[in-house]
Amino acid sequence: MNFHNVVFETSFGRFDQLPKSDLVEIAFAGRSNVGKSSMINKVFNRKQLARVSAVPGKTATINFFRLESVRFADLPGYGYAKVAKGEKERWAKLIDGYFRSGRNIGLVFQLVDVRHKPSQDDLQMIDFLIENEFPFVLILTKKDKLTKTQLAERLEALQTEIPCADQITMIPFSSEKGDGVEEVKAIIEEIAAE
Ligand code: GDP
Repeated sequence: MNFHNVVFETSFGRFDQLPKSDLVEIAFAGRSNVGKSSMINKVFNRKQLARVSAVPGKTATINFFRLESVRFADLPGYGYAKVAKGEKERWAKLIDGYFRSGRNIGLVFQLVDVRHKPSQDDLQMIDFLIENEFPFVLILTKKDKLTKTQLAERLEALQTEIPCADQITMIPFSSEKGDGVEEVKAIIEEIAAE
């Protein structure tokens, strides 16, 4: 697959406006500021496919892009403390609506910051994916911010912090250094070939 050929499709703020689910979809989910936009731009080698913002919590829409026979859904980052309650509810509805609308979701890339214990929001999201049997891979972002020793410690801790950790694929990732990019691309290519 030529990842650079990805095309931006549309942006939606309400799940009842979502485009028809006619292609297999890969979703990207995570807390705001986890490094989701940076990861997407890195994987597709595009500067502005997803907007990297200095101000977290701005992406309150689901953005769709497509590459060949796969559609990608960039879900709104959750867990930003300064967002008003009404706005948080709208995000929750949007994310929940996305997952419950019967779409052909082939995989979810669930991002967590490798430096920290997963937040309550992260764990809620992971529980939701497990309970509803959505296939997912954990992307451990900002790997470059840790030393080798710190990384080893965090990987060990995640084994107890994440439910069913031994059954979950975890990919340490760095948008800065490119670690994990090839693994992620290989996973996407596998889904495209199904
Ligand atoms: P999003 O809100 O999840 O889309 O997060 P962004 O991609 O906008 O990133 C949030 C902040 O983290 C930005 O300042 C990025 O430059 C930084 N960041 C994202 N990924 C990495 C990474 O792999 N390494 C480092 N060092 N910083 C990163």
